[in-house]
Formats: sequence, C-alpha cells, structure tokens
Amino acid sequence: MMDMVDSGATRRTGDPGSMDTVTRIKAAVVREATPGERRVALVPDAIDRLRPAGIDVLVESGAGDGAWLPDAAYADAGASIVSAAELYRTADVILTVTRPSPAAMTELRKGQAVIGMLAPLAIPELAADLAARGVTAISLDGLPRTLSRAQPMDALTSQSNVAGYKAALVAAGEYGRFFPLLITAAGTARPAKVLVLGTGVAGLQAIGTARRLGAVVSGYDIRPSSRDEVTSLGATFLELTSVGSAAGEGGYARELSPDEREAQQEELSAHIARHDVVITTAQVPGRRPPLLVTEDAVKAMAPGSVIVDMGASALGGNVSGSQPGETVVTGNGVTIVGAENLAATVPAAASAAYSRNISALLLHLTSDGALAIDTGDEIQAGVVIAHDGKIVHPAVAALVPASNEGDTGVDGTAD
Ligand code: NAD
Repeated sequence: MMDMVDSGATRRTGDPGSMDTVTRIKAAVVREATPGERRVALVPDAIDRLRPAGIDVLVESGAGDGAWLPDAAYADAGASIVSAAELYRTADVILTVTRPSPAAMTELRKGQAVIGMLAPLAIPELAADLAARGVTAISLDGLPRTLSRAQPMDALTSQSNVAGYKAALVAAGEYGRFFPLLITAAGTARPAKVLVLGTGVAGLQAIGTARRLGAVVSGYDIRPSSRDEVTSLGATFLELTSVGSAAGEGGYARELSPDEREAQQEELSAHIARHDVVITTAQVPGRRPPLLVTEDAVKAMAPGSVIVDMGASALGGNVSGSQPGETVVTGNGVTIVGAENLAATVPAAASAAYSRNISALLLHLTSDGALAIDTGDEIQAGVVIAHDGKIVHPAVAALVPASNEGDTGVDGTAD
C-alpha cells in the first residue's frame, strides 16, 4: 500500500493569481562531512529535471566545493543556498552521498526522509537510529540491480565504475615502470603484467583502464559468468582448478568455505608472483572482504611490484597487510595501497553520475509533490530501509535484534 510521507513541511504554493496550486517538496543537498569525501549528491544540472516534478532544491552552502561546483552554479540553476541549520529545519528530503554525520543525525526530525548510500547491511545501527527518530531512510545500495528500469538509479555501479578506473591509475602512478610496451632509442620496455582479482563492475573498469594504458592484463573471479566480460576487454581470464564456481544470489558471489578459501589462496599465490601489479576488488555483500593475497603471496612478489586493494577496510581487505587509506611498502619492496573511497578522488565525474542516480530514484519515489512510500514496489522494497518509526527492510531488520520481534525498540519519536 502506498503511504505518502507526511513531513509536516510539504506545502501548497503557486502563482497567487492562478487557481492552480502545486504541492511541492523541498529536497536538500548537504555538504558531506566525512573526511576526504569530495562528492556531492546533486550537481546543478539535476535541478531543472526535478523542478517539473514539484521538487525544489536547497543546497547547503559549500556542498559542491569539493567537486568544483560553487554555490553560484547551484543558485544560477535555480537552487536556494542555505545554512545547515535552515536546511535541517525546512527540508522534506535530505540528499547525501554517504551516511549523515553524527551532528546531522541530531538535527533530523520525524517525517523527514534521508536518501543516500547508507550501507544498512554494514551499519544497521544507523538504520535503527533513523527509525527511532521517525526518519524515512532510503538507501541506494539496496537497489535491485538486475532490474532494467532501476539501472539509471544504480549508484553502486556508477561509483564502482569510477573507483575501478582510478584504481588502475593509482597502480600506474605507484609502479616504477611503464604500463605499455615502449620501443625507444634508449631501449625497449616490456609491458606491465597486471592481474585484477574480482571482475565485477570495478574490476572490469580497472581491466579496461589498464588495457588502455597498454598493460598485459589478466582477470579472475569466482563467478565463471564474468569470463566473457573479461575476455571481451582483451584480457585473459585466469582459470583456477582448485576451486569451482561460487556464484551466489542476484549475480553476487557467495562466501567461500574455509577449505575453498585456503585452496584459492594457495593457487592464486603462484599467479600473483608472476605479475607486476595486482588490483583487488573482491566483495561479498554483507560480509568482510575475502582475503585473496596472503602474506606469503606478497613475499613472493618481486621488488617494485604494486598492489591496490580496493577491499581495504577497518575489517581487513583482500590483501594481507593493507591498511585502509594508507600506502605501505613491505620489506621486500612491494607497495600496497589500501585504497579507500577511490570514487571520492574523482569527485566531479563521480558526483555527476551519482546525481543522475539519486535524481532518478527521487523522481521514482515522488508523486504529486510528496514522497509516496510503497514497499510493494520492487525498487522501493530494496531501497526503503526505515519508515514510520520501523525498520521495514527484512534483511536489515534481521540484523537489529529487537526488530526480529517486529519492534525496533524505538517509539518512532525524535529524541
Ligand atoms: P561486488 O562489488 O559485490 O564484488 C566484486 C567482485 O568480487 C564480484 O564480481 C564477485 O564475484 C567477486 N568476488 C567475491 N568473492 C570473490 C573471491 N573469493 N574470489 C574472487 N572474486 C570474488 O560486485 P559488483 O561489481 O557489485 O557486481 C556484482 C554483480 O552484479 C555482478 O554479477 C555484476 O555483473 C552484477 N551487476 C549487474 C548489473 C545489471 O544487471 N544492471 C549492474 C551492476 C552489477
């Protein structure tokens, strides 16, 4: 059943001289607070597309600075530039890239909605907190990705694409030699041998970028269906004999058993030692990233080799010894880049793509100038996490103990 969000702030406005009144909604773009986060949820181009649907845009002053989008560009496109205090006081819908900051959480109020990449499976307590405040939480990372009408909203894909591109450039930047074969009067340089582990969206873009730089590239994934995608980019698909397919649900990989993991690590190690550059992108939804490059595998690499670990996180990454946000050089001269949030380091392209994703979702959710929450809709069933004081997404609810009994442990009021 459809449920119109009663924000208490949705209003009827219109030309006073006209009989027509139009219900309008205020969508607000926040200045991201996470250190190093340079993306912004909407770019000025989006404002024109949202206005006819009854969506007015507020922008927190400075929100676009990290992506070289000054307040004036938003104002020229028709947005109102506001302070953070005014934004939280008047907005119906808050648009973010990542989770709201702890300070922002205290400003949110009952009836407001937050749309962003809220990582509810990784941080279910955020969803519980938003539910407790009576805030509708909508997360782009829950989108059903194989649904063709949802593709314009697929922020995981757009941001992984940017990150995969940057991973190849980071690797090339750290590598002390050329990626391409170069024949010059001063001698011939052989091309770099690059191995990409995990060939989902980010891995395929890393392969394409490394190929465009002239490297000889191989790719490996636990989902055999990615083989054709790898070879179509001119790379070689690496076959492992010790571990079979681990295709899981919805096109994702499943977690390997300890035996499978060990066999995979051992067989991969020999291949890793033969490569100059390794880029790892392996993820399993809701789980810690699998360890693919062990300490022994790193030790077996030649000095000057480079590893970029896109799975690096506080929980550990795909590579033994990688530190999120840091570059370390091992005793045997291997550079390991713990790549964290690479999409934020290409902020203009990443924001432009994210803006199209979040606008498409916002338009999908808006009806007659209000958010129309209907978890019977396949897209909304994936993205609406909390509504009306409750966690409504079953997979997230299962991670919040009290919500298993149909109660989030909260009363739906702001504290
Ligand atoms: P992801 O970020 O969840 O994981 C990255 C890759 O790591 C995946 O390809 C996964 O198979 C691989 N992986 C996980 N464990 C591994 C292991 N132990 N060893 C080797 N590789 C391992 O993946 P993603 O980029 O989000 O893509 C996930 C799936 O969604 C893919 O099948 C992709 O084609 C699909 N997808 C479909 C659409 C669409 O249909 N429109 C859009 C985007 C993604």
